[in-house]
Amino acid sequence: MDHTYDIAIIGGGPVGMFAAFYAGLRSADVLLLEGTAQLGGQPAALYQQKQIYDVAGFYALNGRELTTALTQQLARFQPDVRLNTRVSDFAKDGENITLNTNNGSFQARSVIIATGAGAFAPRQLAASYDHALDGKRVFYTVPDLNAWTDQDVVIAGGGDTAIDWALALEPIARSVQLVHRRQQFRGLESSVQRLESSSVQLNTPYLIDHVDAADQGIDIILKPVRGAEPRTLHADKLLVSYGFSSDNRQLRAWNLELDHSQIVVDRSYRTNQELVYAIGDAITYPDKQKLIASGFGEAPSAVNSIMNAIHPERRQPLHSSQMNL
Ligand SMILES: Cc1cc2nc3c(=O)[nH]c(=O)nc-3n(C[C@H](O)[C@H](O)[C@H](O)COP(=O)(O)OP(=O)(O)OC[C@H]3O[C@@H](n4cnc5c(N)ncnc54)[C@H](O)[C@@H]3O)c2cc1C
Repeated sequence: MDHTYDIAIIGGGPVGMFAAFYAGLRSADVLLLEGTAQLGGQPAALYQQKQIYDVAGFYALNGRELTTALTQQLARFQPDVRLNTRVSDFAKDGENITLNTNNGSFQARSVIIATGAGAFAPRQLAASYDHALDGKRVFYTVPDLNAWTDQDVVIAGGGDTAIDWALALEPIARSVQLVHRRQQFRGLESSVQRLESSSVQLNTPYLIDHVDAADQGIDIILKPVRGAEPRTLHADKLLVSYGFSSDNRQLRAWNLELDHSQIVVDRSYRTNQELVYAIGDAITYPDKQKLIASGFGEAPSAVNSIMNAIHPERRQPLHSSQMNL
């Protein structure tokens, strides 16, 4: 805790990532704290394969491409990024603010809250299995597509994300099977049509009863829902795609002014606490739009307002094109 950052940003979604880059542009000493194992927030966790059409300057890009572009941009000023580091609370501590996390405490002169929809956690497989298989045979995200090449893959889930993953893995994996508890899939009609005309084998209506380690992989024992025959699938990898649950109840413990669980901010994105700002999906103000573009616009205002408060002596051009980077 010897070090005091200029700005600690809570939440490494698209808005927190852009704020961390922009703060670097303003020569701030930045700490970015992300509760999960990956940066990127909702686009990375919920819709990697879906096209986004309303990010300025891009004709279209999917959630994964947006995360990759933001990661490249973020790397320019090398902020201190801590993954798997969930902020539990923070409080004024003399001149500074102390943030407590599951990975220790940090000190900063100011805070930007960019916690979006809240702390994410993947919905767990409710079947019995040895959790030592997590990250080896049983997965909740796909951090590296290459590791799935020529693998026999089973995907559990029936929503958009499960279907997107089945279609994305089909050309790479040796085989892809989907397990869903209903006969119908909940995905976009066009995605469901692509799925039905693909080589992905559909196992419906089935639930996963348990998963056993086997020679060279795992056995996935399926429990029929109605009238179907019992089945066992053998696979190298199981991807559980039951979506993510998000929880923004944490905000209630942070002494912030809230309106329907959203943080109330002023025109500079200040909260009711000194040098604590908030941006992105976590906030509310009249006509707030929960869009990536809005969050990207809020980030520079918050950062510039903080820098004017904590480093009023620093003069820098407003336009990045006038900076020697
Ligand atoms: C299916 C879907 C499609 C969408 N399509 C579009 C679209 O086409 N265009 C568009 O503009 N928007 C779209 N959105 C909305 C867009 O994704 C959000 O507006 C955007 O992700 C908000 O970014 P954010 O950084 O504020 O929050 P989030 O993306 O929610 O990221 C918040 C991050 O904070 C982390 N976090 C939370 N609490 C803590 C804590 N206590 N400690 C540390 N880390 C924490 C979370 O783990 C997460 O990574 C879509 C959303 C969904 C679900």
